[in-house]
Amino acid sequence: MLKLARRLSIRSASRRFLILLSAALVTLVGCTALPRPANEVTQISTYPALERGLYDGDVTYAQLAQAGNFGIGTFDGMDGEMIALDGKFYQARFDGSVIVADKGLETPFATVTFFTTEQRFELAEPLASYDLLKAYLAKIAPPTNRPYAIRLKGTFPYVRIRSIPQQSKPFPPLADVVAQQATWEQKDIRGTLVGYWFPQYLSALNAPGYHLHFISDDRQVAGHLLECSLDSGTIDIDYQDRVTVRFPQTAAFGAADFSTKP
Ligand SMILES: [Zn+2]
Repeated sequence: MLKLARRLSIRSASRRFLILLSAALVTLVGCTALPRPANEVTQISTYPALERGLYDGDVTYAQLAQAGNFGIGTFDGMDGEMIALDGKFYQARFDGSVIVADKGLETPFATVTFFTTEQRFELAEPLASYDLLKAYLAKIAPPTNRPYAIRLKGTFPYVRIRSIPQQSKPFPPLADVVAQQATWEQKDIRGTLVGYWFPQYLSALNAPGYHLHFISDDRQVAGHLLECSLDSGTIDIDYQDRVTVRFPQTAAFGAADFSTKP
């Protein structure tokens, strides 16, 4: 009798263990699940939310890495510019330092994809400005009303980039944060431009037009691109087939008023 009771209690203990184990597995899968079909761009929060000062991150960089190995964005409280390249996520901070982002950090806004080269171009002529680069990109990769990712590895006679300072609450609107930007100029530098072109009609999701971040080959210089010139370069384009938007789960996003201008 005692033996049977003990056997039963062992059996029920192992069943309890199995139930707990499967619950833990479901939780684990549930936490990290962000989709990754080909040619999908994942948008964390929206540009109108960022414009309105919604800078509370609620997606970790470990989770973001499940949705892409390439892209741009920022950090909790706008603590610098983000550049994702070859699966590494870099943080270009306001003090000019560039570090590999801690996976536990959170992002309030990011655009990422698993980059695959769909079209490749060698730059045919030197370009003297960012405006000329935009015109060149529009010529070689004509907008097709689908967003596309751009990776341009090249030699830059000149780049001007910026980063932004971490904000404290109450968060000011984006325009006020950009007014506090620090800018840097670099001459004769090799690096990569990382970013996207988004169509005007998707402006409720992301800033329309070109949005590029720069990172140097030695990963010591990085930021949001303001101006550049190019001597030579290889341009890879990846057209996107679908967009996934991950809305912030924060109370501030739920209460934000999107009917008025920020
Ligand atoms: Zn930027």
